[in-house]
Amino acid sequence: MAARIDGKAISQAIRDEVAQEVARMKSALGKVPGLAVILVGSRKDSLLYVTSKEKACEQAGIRSYSVNLPDTATEAEILEHVHKFNRDPDVHGILVQLPLPKHVREQEILGAVSMDKDVDGFHPTNIGRLAMQGRQPLFIPCTPRGCIELLLRTGVQISGKHAVVIGRSNIVGTPAAMLLQRHNATVTVVHSYTPDPAAVTRTADIVIAAAGVAHLVRKDWLKPGAVVIDVGINPIEDPSAKKGHRTVGDVHFKEACSVASAITPVPGGVGPMTIAMLLQNTVESAKRAYEFNGT
Ligand code: NAD
Repeated sequence: MAARIDGKAISQAIRDEVAQEVARMKSALGKVPGLAVILVGSRKDSLLYVTSKEKACEQAGIRSYSVNLPDTATEAEILEHVHKFNRDPDVHGILVQLPLPKHVREQEILGAVSMDKDVDGFHPTNIGRLAMQGRQPLFIPCTPRGCIELLLRTGVQISGKHAVVIGRSNIVGTPAAMLLQRHNATVTVVHSYTPDPAAVTRTADIVIAAAGVAHLVRKDWLKPGAVVIDVGINPIEDPSAKKGHRTVGDVHFKEACSVASAITPVPGGVGPMTIAMLLQNTVESAKRAYEFNGT
C-alpha cells in the first residue's frame, strides 16, 4: 500500500517558514514583502484562486495589492497596471491570473512583468535560465516547484532515477521536466502525440502526471514501487457528492495505491503546494530587493 504524500501538511510547514521569514524581515527592516495580483474578467474559478492567494498572503504577513479589471479591458490597460507595479518598490511579486480573455495576448502581458518580480516564473528569460545548465532562474514556476518540493521533503531520491512527466504545457509539464533534470534525474516527457504513454510511464521510478485527464493513469501504467505526483485537477460527475460532482486527479488513486510506493492525493497533494511556493517566491524576491538575509 502506497504511502500518502501529505501536501496539506507539507505546504503548511512551508507557509509557517514563510511567515517566520516575513516576521524577521519586519522586525529588522520595518518592511514586509508585497504581492500584486491582476485579475481580468469575472471567471468564478479565477476569482476563487485570487481570493485564496490574498488570504494566504495575509496569513503570512505579506501585503497584497489587487486590481480587478473587466472582461473588456484592453492590453494597454492591463499593461498600464503591470508597469505601475513594476515601478512600485513595495511590490516584490506580480501575478497575472491566467487565463486572460481571448482578445488579450498572454505572452505580451507576461513578458512585460519585470524579471525581478516574476513570482510565477513564466517570464521567457526565467524559463530560459531554468533550461540552461549553470544558470539560475530568479523564480521557478510555482506548481512544478511544489512537485519537486514534495519529493525532496518526503526524502525521495531524484538523482539518477528515471522520471516520466505526462504533459508538456508551459506552466507545468515542461518546467517540471527541466527541474527534474536539474536534480539529475533522467527525464522522459510523454504527451498527447506519444503513441503508447502507458508503456513509457511503466518504466518510471518517479511519475509527474499533468495531462488534465481524469483517471488517465491506471494500475498498469505504473512500475511497482514508483513514486507518483498527481498534478491533475479534474471535475467529474458524482451523483453521491454534495454538489453532484467532485475533483479527481490524472491518476486513478485507488488502483495506483496498490502498486506505487508513495502518491499524492487529489485534493490535498500538489494543489496546496502551489500557493505555498508563490508565497516563498515572493519572500525570496523581497529578500533580494532589500538585500536581507534573514536566516
Ligand atoms: P494543458 O492542457 O495545458 O496541458 C496538458 C498536457 O497533457 C499537454 O501537453 C498534452 O499533450 C498532455 N496530454 C493530454 N492528454 C494526454 C494523454 N491522454 N496522454 C498523454 N499526454 C496527454 O494542462 P496544464 O495547464 O498543464 O494542466 C494539467 C493539469 O494540471 C490540469 O488538470 C490542471 O487543472 C492541473 N493543474 C493543477 C495545478 C495545481 O496547482 N495543482 C496547477 C496547474 C494545473
